[in-house]
Amino acid sequence: MFDTHCHLNFKAFKKNLTDVVDRAFDAGIKNIIVPGTDVKTSKRGVEIVQNFEGVYAAVGIHPHHVYKLVKNEELTVKSEVEKIRSLLSHPKVVAVGEIGLDKHAYENTVYQEYQVDSRFLDLQKELFKKQIELAVNFKKSLILHNREAKDDFLQILREKWTSHLEFRTVFHCCEPDEELLAEAKKHHIFIGVDGDVTFSKSKQEFIKKVPLEMLVLETDSPFLLPEPLKTQKKYPNEPANVAIICKFISQLRGEDIDKIQKITTVNAKRLFSLY
Ligand SMILES: [Zn+2]
Ligand SMILES: [Zn+2]
Repeated sequence: MFDTHCHLNFKAFKKNLTDVVDRAFDAGIKNIIVPGTDVKTSKRGVEIVQNFEGVYAAVGIHPHHVYKLVKNEELTVKSEVEKIRSLLSHPKVVAVGEIGLDKHAYENTVYQEYQVDSRFLDLQKELFKKQIELAVNFKKSLILHNREAKDDFLQILREKWTSHLEFRTVFHCCEPDEELLAEAKKHHIFIGVDGDVTFSKSKQEFIKKVPLEMLVLETDSPFLLPEPLKTQKKYPNEPANVAIICKFISQLRGEDIDKIQKITTVNAKRLFSLY
């Protein structure tokens, strides 16, 4: 199996990283992608993937963390994009991500007085566009994050789309939305499914409709703990739990678990050009 989205670069895993990766390998997960969310976590991702076979990095600035540019005048779009660009030549960096747009009014955030106003949103859009360009120019894959921003998100994606991105892009933790699914079908974009499918009815209905050849599995660890671990409060989520998501989807869709494992792994390898 393949965990296409796992933040091994976050503080939650600082002390027990090797154990977490070993448990994933023991559970049958052979590959993990570690996406960056700002310059710091992108650099950390590139560092840690060097220690593990089958583990690769993505580098990028998450829309939520674009807020750093709102508060710190010294950070510019140009300087931040330059820092991400400098990480792209590393052989284990396979994608730009996670990047996109996010209009959610986070209450639980490191940023004080966090507010999605027009200046912040303009900066999100600019960084989103520039980072898509990076992926295209460096022939990398693309990990896309969209939360409550579908219209602007699709508009930018359509504006920047090139055929290079077909079969090399994922709507990570895809919102259950027909228009997003239609766009994904049209451009051969993969759909990422997480542990929240085990408790979200709308995600369950959505995932039943996604053709298997478009589906990839992800944990988004340390977040999105699947059931029954969520009720048991067994935080943090970790990549071994891809096996739980895979089993749940096989029951949800009434399809053989071996088939789900095999096809989602083939899809993920294609997504990140890992053959
Ligand atoms: Zn995300
Ligand atoms: Zn993430």
